[in-house]
Amino acid sequence: MNGDCIFCKIVNGDIPSKKIYEDDEVIVFNDIHPIAPVHFLIVPKQHIESLASCDYSHEELLGKMLVLAPNLAMKHGLKGFRTMINTGSEGGQEVFHLHVHVFGGGTVLPKT
Ligand code: AMP
Ligand code: ZN
Repeated sequence: MNGDCIFCKIVNGDIPSKKIYEDDEVIVFNDIHPIAPVHFLIVPKQHIESLASCDYSHEELLGKMLVLAPNLAMKHGLKGFRTMINTGSEGGQEVFHLHVHVFGGGTVLPKT
C-alpha cells in the first residue's frame, strides 16, 4: 500500500469505484473517464509502480491479469476489445500503479 496512490486507495476501499471483479490479488473497475462504451482497468492489489517494475516473480500475476481481459470483456458484451498498458510518463502513464486498460464497443477503434 502506497499512501499517496489513488489505486491503492481504491483497493483499500478509501475511494469508491465501479468494481466489476475482485479476487485476492486483483481488482477490476470502470475507468472514470472512459474512452469507449466499455472501458475498465485491471489492477493488481499489490502496489507495483508500472510494467517496468515487473520481473519474473510477477509472471503469474501478469498472466492472470491478461487472461481476465477477454473473460470480463465478453461478459460486458464485447466481441473484440483493445488492451493498453501505459508505462512511464513517456509512455503516457498518469497513475503510477500498474494497470491494464481494456476498452471497446461502439465505433471501430482507430488502426494502430
Ligand atoms: P494511465 O494514463 O494509463 O495511467 O491511465 C490512468 C487511468 O486511470 C485514466 O484512464 C483515468 O481516467 C483513470 N482513473 C484515474 N482516477 C480514477 C478513479 N478514481 N477511478 C477510476 N479510474 C480512474
Ligand atoms: Zn498503488
